[in-house]
Amino acid sequence: MNAIKKAKLLEEGKIQDPNGLIDIYSFQRSGPLAGKRAVVLEFGGKRVKLEISGKSKYALHKNGKNYSIVDEDGIFIKNVRIIHAPGGAPNQAFLNIENRCIFNCAFCESCSKALLDEKRLMRFITKLVENRSCETIALTTGVFPSVESSIKRLCRFVLNLRKKNKDIPIGVEAVVNKKEQIDAIKESGADEIKINVQLPRKDLFDAICGYVSYNSIYYFLEHAVDVFGEGKVTSNIIYGFGEREEDILETLERLASAGIVATLRKVRLSEVNADRIKRRIGRSPQKINYDKILRLALNHKNILKKFGLTTKTFKTMCLPCACCDLVPFIDV
Ligand code: SF4
Ligand code: SF4
Repeated sequence: MNAIKKAKLLEEGKIQDPNGLIDIYSFQRSGPLAGKRAVVLEFGGKRVKLEISGKSKYALHKNGKNYSIVDEDGIFIKNVRIIHAPGGAPNQAFLNIENRCIFNCAFCESCSKALLDEKRLMRFITKLVENRSCETIALTTGVFPSVESSIKRLCRFVLNLRKKNKDIPIGVEAVVNKKEQIDAIKESGADEIKINVQLPRKDLFDAICGYVSYNSIYYFLEHAVDVFGEGKVTSNIIYGFGEREEDILETLERLASAGIVATLRKVRLSEVNADRIKRRIGRSPQKINYDKILRLALNHKNILKKFGLTTKTFKTMCLPCACCDLVPFIDV
């Protein structure tokens, strides 16, 4: 029942805060809600991150000490908690170390021209670790000015973090174009890696991202499994672009058969990225209903089981966080 409610919240993607209850919100610099204010809520063992917006069928209310989510029929979910996530995700520092990107994926809203200060970021992460606000660290990066230089910067970061934090799990999300870059990320001290296939079909990838050859991503992912091991390699698959459900399932199966656990995500749309996507693929992105989110998560779970995989082996990034998606073995 709570999984269905979470799927309904993910379908909507937003929540109203008419009484100004949410004081612990964070401006999102990366991830599917980049550029927006968002809040992490917890109920019945489920977590969800929602954009704070005046336009939502759900609203947060408070009765005495307790929060609830209401809709037009009254209380939708009782006993809701607001979760503080100063590092971007609960118990995790998941940070973007480069805002700029030479690529231009139509759905992506992570990029800006603002320069990030390396030393300040390191100090911020160190503080989160020291005051126990995070138990794991994950880094992502835009590609700037080249893939090679963004990987070098990423490795430098991981190396520095590893020197100071011997045992903390570190995950890395990166665009790569040589397999030696994967080796370098591992050697610098990362435990887990995410290399994104992004779209469940080559023609969609070419239209929406198109920054490398689609099949090369699978080649790099397979090498990543050799280097990091099964259950340590993940890849974003974003859906809602007019693909068939079979395309998504075939992609999940192709990844699982190679030991890779996908992070399956419904595209989060704003006026800006929806328009960009429409121009690239010649039609508007689809609205995804909660029953499809639920069905895909359950099918994904079956695929993972078939190949002896689970999301539970991951300690960093989106699979253990489970705020933005319905995650097999955690939510369903
Ligand atoms: S590679 Fe694509 S998704 Fe990644 S930061 Fe650049 S534009 Fe965004
Ligand atoms: S699932 Fe968690 S780690 Fe991933 S983008 Fe959402 S909040 Fe960040």
